[in-house]
Amino acid sequence: MLKLGNGNKQKNEKNTVTTTVTPPSNFIREIIDQDLRTNKYGGRVHTRFPPEPNGYLHIGHAKSICLNFGLAAEYGGWCNLRFDDTNPSKEEIEYVNSIIEDVRWLGFDWGDRLFYTSDYFEQLYQYAVQLIKKGKAYVCDLSPEQIKEYRGTLTEPGKESPYRNRSVEENLDLFQRMRAGEFEDGSRVLRAKIDMASGNLNMRDPVIYRILHATHHRTGDKWCIYPMYDFAHCLSDSIEGITHSICTLEFEDHRPLYDWFLDELNVHHPRQIEFARLNLSYTVLSKRKLLELVEGGYVTGWDDPRMPTISGLRRRGYTPESIRNFCERIGVAKRDSIVDIALLEHSIREDLNKRAPRVMGVLHPLKVIIDNYPEDQVEELEAINNPEDPTMGTRKVPFSRILYIERDDFRENPPKKFFRLAPGREVRLRYAYYITCVGVVKDENTGEVVELHCTYDPETRGGWAPDGRKVKGTLHWVSAPHALEAEVRLYDRLFTKENPCAEKNVDFKTYLNPNSLVVLTSCRVEPSLADAAPGSRYQFERQGYFCVDSVDSTKEKLVFNRIVPLRDSWAKIEKAQKQQKSA
Ligand code: ATP
Ligand code: MG
Repeated sequence: MLKLGNGNKQKNEKNTVTTTVTPPSNFIREIIDQDLRTNKYGGRVHTRFPPEPNGYLHIGHAKSICLNFGLAAEYGGWCNLRFDDTNPSKEEIEYVNSIIEDVRWLGFDWGDRLFYTSDYFEQLYQYAVQLIKKGKAYVCDLSPEQIKEYRGTLTEPGKESPYRNRSVEENLDLFQRMRAGEFEDGSRVLRAKIDMASGNLNMRDPVIYRILHATHHRTGDKWCIYPMYDFAHCLSDSIEGITHSICTLEFEDHRPLYDWFLDELNVHHPRQIEFARLNLSYTVLSKRKLLELVEGGYVTGWDDPRMPTISGLRRRGYTPESIRNFCERIGVAKRDSIVDIALLEHSIREDLNKRAPRVMGVLHPLKVIIDNYPEDQVEELEAINNPEDPTMGTRKVPFSRILYIERDDFRENPPKKFFRLAPGREVRLRYAYYITCVGVVKDENTGEVVELHCTYDPETRGGWAPDGRKVKGTLHWVSAPHALEAEVRLYDRLFTKENPCAEKNVDFKTYLNPNSLVVLTSCRVEPSLADAAPGSRYQFERQGYFCVDSVDSTKEKLVFNRIVPLRDSWAKIEKAQKQQKSA
């Protein structure tokens, strides 16, 4: 697990120590630096982000996006956005649009370099013809099952296909007829002719073209043969003049094939560099699994605020800056690991602590009547918008005789170290007055506390006693007649297990957290939020960070997503006490 870390401490010229988040060197930067020294690519750095448009982007993709666009920016180079759209059966325009939106939202710009592998279909076809002419590719009539069987295993060499030694002329003719649509799906493939005894299974005559009569979202029915990933990817990189082709570790074993195609065709040869993919605790990062959650109705959609997708995180209230900082912090490595989701939560807290205006909102309202406060009096009290940033100024919050406080902030029989409201006890209402609890009204039938009676000390306006007397608790509150009703959605981790995919024979959905969403429908927030724009973020004092839901919130009914709670010291004390008891 990764621990939180800050930027390097550096001495600047004035010899004072400042803390900056300078990108630490890593093995990818070292490779690029070396290539620049040897002038391998004429001093160019050109990367690309190549998503397959078969799902929405997730936080793992964000790591790759930040890396590719980040390196290009750092070295004054370019980064292309390329849709790797070679699989018509799973790809949709909806995904293309969402990916464009998400990369842009993260803050990156590809200028006029938006490409599609499908734009290269003709050129890729010609490359395949070249391989055939060189005697390096052949049309194979084995069935998919036979091809698998002939491939052999890690310990046994493969067997050569009986079609392997077809003449160049026959191969050219068959390949052309494959393109012309003369054959059924799956009846023939084009394979590279490499080495069926290679220790690397990827080199055992891999398939490079298959027949698929499917409509493509961009090329329509023009093609009924489609190139395979390994063939299309390296050549697309080459066509675009990419210098450093950065991908995740599972492609390490494919690198010899990447190099083989480019060497055989004698074309521009980018350097493939692999890094460890991001795994995040208590969630899954695989488009296939995320699609399963969407299609099975386990979440409300790709942008469900519990999803680790960029669109889910955006709707939840994450900022692009917090995601970019997170990606910078986790760095790049050569070995797989699981990053603690707490690090992502830390990044958004850190960002919003600086930027989010503070407001008061009561999630579980408990009515408080201030017996000695004049009935029709209303005061406008001054509240600080952000103690971290004085330039954010102050606002007025109304105070009146009837208030709501948090149900949790009152205990009839307060345990030790509970410093909030209790019968006979005095506490501070933030920005307002000291109040003392003088009466408790309960439901006759259930015994539930339904209302508190308090008195206030008029001398303590603003929350300070002129006689210097101290109180231990400060509560947030709202004025009942002025407060706005709101729905608040509290999110917890999507899975109950750190790695829901750890067991091969257990469906990851077994570990879905049944309490990942709790909806509170009768919350009360201060009236300054009446015009809160969808997507705007606030700190509800003592509660956490919240975001106006961009889909469901309306002027009539505000809906907030809780982004993250604040770290609650009371919850920690209670937990420690429980642990002590059980020990
Ligand atoms: P998934 O496994 O979620 O289906 P994928 O690798 O099939 O993802 P692509 O659209 O092919 O999805 O990914 C585009 C780019 O993002 C690739 O370069 C891939 O290596 C990178 N990428 C995907 N998942 C991660 C991850 N978890 N961490 C880092 N990079 C990732
Ligand atoms: Mg992929």
